[in-house]
Amino acid sequence: MCGVFGVYSRNDYVAEEIYLGLAALQHRGQESAGIAWIDEDRRINVLKGMGLLHEALDQSLLSKLTARAAIGHVRYSTAGGSHEQNAQPIGANYAQGPVAIAHNGNLTNFKELREVLENRGAIFQSTGDTEAILHVLAHQPNRRPLEALRRALIGVSAAYSIVVLIEDGLVAARDPWGFRPLSLGRRGDNYYVASESCAFNLLGVSFVRDIEPGEILLINERGLSSYKMPLTPGCGRLCSFEFVYLARPDSVIEGISVYMARREMGRRLAKSTRGECFFSGSTSGDADFVAPMPDSGTTAALGYAEESRLPYEAAVVRNRYVGRTFIQPTQRVRELGVRIKLNPSPDLFRDRSAILVDDSIVRGTTAGLVVSMIRECRTRSVHLRISSPPVRYPCFYGIDTPSKGDLTAASHTVGEIAESIGVDSLCYLSLEDMVESIGLPGDRLCTACFDGDYLREREGEESRNACERIFD
Ligand code: AMP
Ligand code: SF4
Repeated sequence: MCGVFGVYSRNDYVAEEIYLGLAALQHRGQESAGIAWIDEDRRINVLKGMGLLHEALDQSLLSKLTARAAIGHVRYSTAGGSHEQNAQPIGANYAQGPVAIAHNGNLTNFKELREVLENRGAIFQSTGDTEAILHVLAHQPNRRPLEALRRALIGVSAAYSIVVLIEDGLVAARDPWGFRPLSLGRRGDNYYVASESCAFNLLGVSFVRDIEPGEILLINERGLSSYKMPLTPGCGRLCSFEFVYLARPDSVIEGISVYMARREMGRRLAKSTRGECFFSGSTSGDADFVAPMPDSGTTAALGYAEESRLPYEAAVVRNRYVGRTFIQPTQRVRELGVRIKLNPSPDLFRDRSAILVDDSIVRGTTAGLVVSMIRECRTRSVHLRISSPPVRYPCFYGIDTPSKGDLTAASHTVGEIAESIGVDSLCYLSLEDMVESIGLPGDRLCTACFDGDYLREREGEESRNACERIFD
């Protein structure tokens, strides 16, 4: 998962706004951050570094830059490792001028594309898939960048939501399936593109609309020009996990408030009997209160408490100076990270029965460690409620849900998971309830990590041919 941000202005210097926009998107990636702009000599400039935004970039330096268009990126690696050479944006000066790209997603035909490009002489500097798009541009030296980009995007397979800087302006594009969100905003004559609309709120930017699946939007001094890629029939696969966990609750995606969707997931979790459940004996009927796993379970827990008419207690405290534990690279650090980050309040749990609400279980590490700390408080019983269905399949569309072997629900029953976490009962939200809580038609959402219903895409030889056709 990554965050991308772009600004185009006729009058203002915008580099510092990129910094602020990225700050609002920091939850989408904490491994590296960067910014790219075109200078007065028509050269691309890129500043990037490892770590959180404030570690990677110097805000005061950006405030002095005289760039009227720029793009930025925060990264959490899904393709390629967590190294400086994979940080984005990726920029180059080639036969048709300067270009830089920032990408959120995963190109599913990257292997074939890289092979085709290497056979044509491309030398890759990074192990990430985004660089391939730049090479595709460079290998069409006689086409204008926008046309070369259009051909490149038709040839690569989802998932991508990208911002690209070329001399003709700022380009925003979303793959024809629309896996990852991308929004357009405006303040006066300035246009903004962001992975999530929460980045606009910070800058006083008004939300205009989502970039549509399959749209390539050019923003320059002439205003907006929209191009449509040929669409695959029946497409539209917005990631449902954005509503469950990934996006910030103050974002609106395709007209749906993430907060409202998440609260509805909690409500339905409290009242529905459609999801997978396990009860070891004691039911949640004896519960004294509802507590969220902060922050990922907060909004769903509110809905759960509302529906069940139980008190809502912030009984697990989050150390706000520690980042997302999931993001830590090794299992050992992740386990320690959970203990440093989340701590139950002993007085609230002692001799009481709690319903603990979280958004998802991936490996089971977080829930297992928090529940064992809750047990140390001599609680009466703990009932875990999850506001999404079991995650049983990996994601190939830009989210780092690990290989099947690491997904506890891929190889364990709900009863086994409940036992290993140490809870008295465990219930998941059903797929139907999750989709209905979001409120978009089921066939417009990707739910593959829950039900294994992956997109049937070009594979092997067919994909290689599609890559080669880009250069015809
Ligand atoms: P785990 O300990 O692996 O079960 O982690 C589960 C927690 O990680 C959940 O509470 C989620 O809030 C969070 N999470 C789920 N999926 C992701 C993801 N792809 N990236 C980062 N965090 C995630
Ligand atoms: Fe989102 Fe899951 Fe689909 Fe990946 S597989 S795009 S995480 S719903």
